[in-house]
Formats: sequence, structure tokens, C-alpha cells
Amino acid sequence: MPTLYPSRTSQKLKSVALVGSGMAGLARIRDTHEVSILSFHGLCEGMGTDRVLDWSLHLPLEIFRRVCAFLASNYSVVSLQSVVDRLKAGAKLEPNSVVLTFDDGYASNYHLAWPVLREFNLPATIFVATGFLDGTEPMWFQRLDLALGTSAKPFLDWKFPHGKDRLPLGTREKRQMALGRLLPELKRMPDEDMLDEIDRIEQALGVEPPAVGALPEPMRPLTWPQVRELAATGLIEIGGHTHTHPVLSRCHPEAMHGEIFTCHERLRQELGRAPKLFCFPNGGQADYTAETIALLQGAGFEAACTLRSGRVDQNSSLMELPRYGSPESVWEAEATVSGAFEAVKAWRKTARNSLWSFLP
Ligand SMILES: [Zn+2]
Repeated sequence: MPTLYPSRTSQKLKSVALVGSGMAGLARIRDTHEVSILSFHGLCEGMGTDRVLDWSLHLPLEIFRRVCAFLASNYSVVSLQSVVDRLKAGAKLEPNSVVLTFDDGYASNYHLAWPVLREFNLPATIFVATGFLDGTEPMWFQRLDLALGTSAKPFLDWKFPHGKDRLPLGTREKRQMALGRLLPELKRMPDEDMLDEIDRIEQALGVEPPAVGALPEPMRPLTWPQVRELAATGLIEIGGHTHTHPVLSRCHPEAMHGEIFTCHERLRQELGRAPKLFCFPNGGQADYTAETIALLQGAGFEAACTLRSGRVDQNSSLMELPRYGSPESVWEAEATVSGAFEAVKAWRKTARNSLWSFLP
């Protein structure tokens, strides 16, 4: 799911400070028995195209390779299923362990990520939106990205909750800003209304909905034979990520049921065994409900990942495992997986509490 952060400078500066101060190293040597789950989407390499606006979903291969090299020599990279099995058994989690995950099911997971994972012998989980892989239609945020990125119109008028606004599309930066403003608005809408709105935006921009086969290279999905090949390696687990990638809490109950059970069934048909792992599109607290979790359990999923930051420990709920967003540098990876970010948060809380205890 796209996030299109306008700037991650503050996160980067914090990472540099934490690693530079030795805080990340100190956090790593604590005996925490906690696991950090990292989420990636696609990767890119020499695909310099101006046809994709949201590049936050496609990490440069070189950075990914350096992150993997760092993790392979400093951490224990384990499979998500092994963490789930330990949690289910009430067994201790392996200290300094990290799980790698990829969302959506991009072809670059096969072409670019897999050779690196194989080189360092790192397990990973790929969560696929089964309708995206079936090639029936692109995911809704890809349609929006392409409509805004390729339209010949100079602007788009859109009715925001506070009133109508004109989004200029004169430059690539303006098109990216328009995408950044529309994405959060669309994610808040009921799913059916949101899809109607994407149709309307495409019409207003004079753009046809793209066919999956015509998507720019970084946006393309894995094929089912590639998924089967990856699953057969024993190093890659395949999990579910719905069928059409809606925000599940914005779906009607029947649609939510269909998204979960169709995804489960398509994976079972294509892989010959039932999937056990799932990850919520968008992944925030408001993006799924208790009913979503009940449906997942009813379908047979054992665990589900969110995108709420935090480390997995003995008390983590299997159906709401916390996960960190994709690191954009080795420094950010180290600050994240070492637990340094969490250690600083805990230290701040303790410092604040002890300060408050002296106040009248
Ligand atoms: Zn996603």
C-alpha cells in the first residue's frame, strides 16, 4: 500500500544519531527475545521511468542488498512461520531475530529480491493480493498513480471534505503532491465508493484504466509459476493479502468475507496447500476490525501482520503482529531492528514518569 511520504528526513536523522551514538549496538546486546518484522514492497534497478509517481514502494536494489548483507552478518533472520510456531507453543523467541516480508506480490520480488535472499540464505514471506496476480485488474492505487502520472490535463478538480480544490498537474512534483493528497482521502472512503471515485478520476483525467499486462515494469505482479517456484525453494513463504487489496474495514461484510476467502482459496488452488499467514492492506489500527480477524481465523489463517510499528514479543497477538515499514538505508535498518527506536521510546517514558513523580 502506498504511503508517499513527502519527507523521511527526520526518521533518517534519528537513525544516524542512534547508530552514530552507539545506541543501536547497545540495544542489540540486550537479551530481549523480541523479533523485528520488516516490510518491503517491490525493488527497482535501472528502471528509471517517469511513469511511476510513488517510488516509496520500490526500494533500490543496492540498498536492499546492503540491508540484507548487514542483517545476515549481525542478526538471525528467521521465517515468519517459525516465529508464529514459537508464539503458539509459548516458547521463547530467538534473541536478535528479524523477519523479512514483502507486500502485494511484485514481479521484482522474483527478479531482484530473490537472488539476494538466495545469496545470503535469508528466509522471507511474500504476501500477495491474489486478484493482482490473476491479472484481472491493477490495484486501485496503481490506477490512481498512472492516471495522475500520465494525464495530459493540467489539473484535477476534486471535492475534499472541506470543499472543492484544484490539484495542479503541471510538473511531476505537482502530480506526486496530488497523489499524496488524494491517497489518504480515498483510503477513508467505503470501498465501493472509492472504486467509483477512481473511475470518475480516470474519466476526468481522460485516461483509460490500464491493463495489468501494460503496467510499467516496477508495478507488474508476480506470475503464479514464479510464486510456485519461490515457494518450492523452502526459503520463501507465501501469505495472503486479500484478493483486490481494499482497506478491509471499509468493505461491506459480504465483500470483506469474499476478499478473505477468495484470497485463501486462490492460494490453495495455485500452491496446493492452504496459506497460514496474512497481512492487512494498509495495516493501521483502523484498517481492520474484530470481524476481519474472526473471518481470517474462520478461513484458517494462523497469524496476521499489521503495519503498526513495534517488536514482536511473547505477549504479541498472533492476529495483530506489529511490523516496521521498509528501511531506506542500512542505518535505518540497524536503528529499527536493533530495538534502538523502542529503547529510546521506553527511556523517554521512564524519564518522563520519574520527572513527573517529583512534581507536586
Ligand atoms: Zn499492500
